[in-house]
Amino acid sequence: MEERIILDELEAGELAIEFDHQEPQDVIRWAVERFGNRLAICTSFQADGLVIIDMAWRINPKVRVFTIDTGRLPQETYEMIDRVRAKYGIALEVHVPETRQVEAMVRRHGANLFYREVPLRLLCCQVRKVLPLRRVLSQLDAWITGLRRDQWATRSNIRKIELDHDHGGIVKINPLADWTEEEVWDYIRAFDVPYHPLYDRGYTSIGCAPCTRPIQPGEDPRAGRWWWERGAPKECGMHCAIETGGFEHELEAILGHNGHPHS
Ligand code: SF4
Repeated sequence: MEERIILDELEAGELAIEFDHQEPQDVIRWAVERFGNRLAICTSFQADGLVIIDMAWRINPKVRVFTIDTGRLPQETYEMIDRVRAKYGIALEVHVPETRQVEAMVRRHGANLFYREVPLRLLCCQVRKVLPLRRVLSQLDAWITGLRRDQWATRSNIRKIELDHDHGGIVKINPLADWTEEEVWDYIRAFDVPYHPLYDRGYTSIGCAPCTRPIQPGEDPRAGRWWWERGAPKECGMHCAIETGGFEHELEAILGHNGHPHS
């Protein structure tokens, strides 16, 4: 069994300061060298994630990349999976939710539960995204994301290197933390990086098909996510733990004891 590579708070803090003004490629190079196969890039095929894949692939073409297939993704995202596989020759790791959990959730609440109330939307995000992600990350020592500080208020304090206490204290690396959207698109154009076709149809943030739509002029870039909700976080819980007390008891019912869902 491979030995785990663990950073403590002090080292992570020092590295965050050291890398804060460095280029994303320097951060990625450090991560690839330090964590090797214990590191993987997480992508949902948005522009930022594609920039990360392109940069990392130029550093090490064998870098690991994974995605969570919630089962509700737009067809265009599945096409992106194949485009990325073809262009970079990466054996993309596609992880899906636990069948039994999805079955139990749909049996209790229906297929489109997310439109009814925020706690049910968060429940769906937990079952389809957060729990599969947790399973993947439990096998890693570090993960790379395309998060940027200017995407949403909850992201304004992210560091380029930080400990992920929501996932067992592994290392979370956000090389594009200080990039703007413009810098992302400049890179995509300069290096001919494949990008998601829904951007050309007015989408500025891309997630599951039933929960994402194009934005109107002047709207916030994440306004197209869960657009029917008022006052709820534009987050699914993958990048920040969401505790509302509203969905947890339902989740418990679905997960059941010993992994056997209650009906
Ligand atoms: S974004 Fe929508 S469909 Fe996707 S997991 Fe969350 S609630 Fe479910």
